[in-house]
Amino acid sequence: MPEVTTTSGNLRFGGKALSLIKFRDVVGQEKAKRMLQLAFSRQKTSHAYLFQGSSGVGKKSLAQAFAAFLNCLEDGRSDSCGQCPSCRKMASANHPDFLIIEPERGKAQISIDQIRELKKMLSYPPVEAGYRVVMISDIQQTMIRKEVANSLLKTLEEPPLKTVFVLTAVEAAGILPTIVSRCQVVPFYPLSYELVCGVLSADGLSAGQAYVMASIAEGSVGKARELAKTDLLETRKQIVEGLVSLSQTQAGAVEGVFVLAEQAAQRKDDLVEVLELLQLWIKDLMILASGGSEDYLINHDLRHTLPPASQRWNVEQLSERLSMIVEAQRQLRHNCNRAFVCEVLFWAFIG
Ligand SMILES: [Zn+2]
Repeated sequence: MPEVTTTSGNLRFGGKALSLIKFRDVVGQEKAKRMLQLAFSRQKTSHAYLFQGSSGVGKKSLAQAFAAFLNCLEDGRSDSCGQCPSCRKMASANHPDFLIIEPERGKAQISIDQIRELKKMLSYPPVEAGYRVVMISDIQQTMIRKEVANSLLKTLEEPPLKTVFVLTAVEAAGILPTIVSRCQVVPFYPLSYELVCGVLSADGLSAGQAYVMASIAEGSVGKARELAKTDLLETRKQIVEGLVSLSQTQAGAVEGVFVLAEQAAQRKDDLVEVLELLQLWIKDLMILASGGSEDYLINHDLRHTLPPASQRWNVEQLSERLSMIVEAQRQLRHNCNRAFVCEVLFWAFIG
C-alpha cells in the first residue's frame, strides 16, 4: 500500500494510509492501553511517553491508536469511535495534528533541522483544537546525535500546551537519561504464543505454519510476519528430509551432508533461525521419544520424517543434539565458517 503523507519541509504527517487503528485493533498490551485510557479519563495525560519494549510488539500501532483516541470527538470514550471527522482524517492519514518525525529518505538519523522545524510548528496551537501528537520511533537509533537529542530535550522540558510526544525504543540504554526522565515510561511485553499464532492465522497462514513461526518469533508479531515472508520453512523441510534420507554407512553420505551444509550456508542472515527450526523438529522427536501425545507436535509438515528419525536416537541422544545446535548457533553468531559449522552439525544428525 502506498505511503500517503503530507509534507511540510522536512516533516512528515499522518502515517501510513491504513485504516484507522483503534486500541482494540492493537494485539495484546492491555496494561499499556489501560494506562493511557486511565490517564486520559483522569485528565492526567502526560506530555511525553516513552513506549519501551521489543521490536514488533505493537509500540507504533499503539502510538497511532493513542493519537486517534486523544483526538476523537466522541464524549466518554474508552476507544476511538471511527466515525467522527477527526477519526476519519486519521483513517485517511490526513490529520494535521498527528506528526511522525522520522529520518529523511536514505538517512538513518533525524536531523537537527527537522527538530528545529518541529519546534517552529509547535509554537502554534494544534490545528484542530485537540491534541497534537508527535511520534518519534526507535529513538535509540534515530536520535543518537547529541545535539539532536539535546534540542528535543529542551522541548520536552518546556512542553507546548496540548502536545503529547510518543517516543518509542527497544531499550532505554543509549537514550539520554534526561530524555527518559522527562517521559512517562510505558513498558511493552512480548506477546503470548497464542496471540502471535492468532495474528498469523488471521493473515492467512495455515495452522501448522503459524505454530512454527510463532514458536521462534520471541513474542513479536513483527518478527513472525517477517519470518513468514521468507522461505525458511521450505529450507528447513529440505534439510530435515535430506538428513533423514542419509545414513553414515551409506556410500555418498559425506557428499550428501556437504551438499546440505552448502545449501544451509547460503542463507544470508537467517541461518541461525533455520537452526532454531531444526531445534523444534528435535523437540517433536523428544515428545514422541518420551511418550508424549502427538497433539503437542509442532511441525505438522514434517510428520513423515518423525518415524524414521525416531529410530535413530533416544531422549538423551536427542538432548545432546539440541546442545549441538545451540553450540552451532553460537559459532555462527561469531562468524565461524558457516558451511563447516553446518557440515559438522549435520554429520551428527544422520543415522
Ligand atoms: Zn472519533
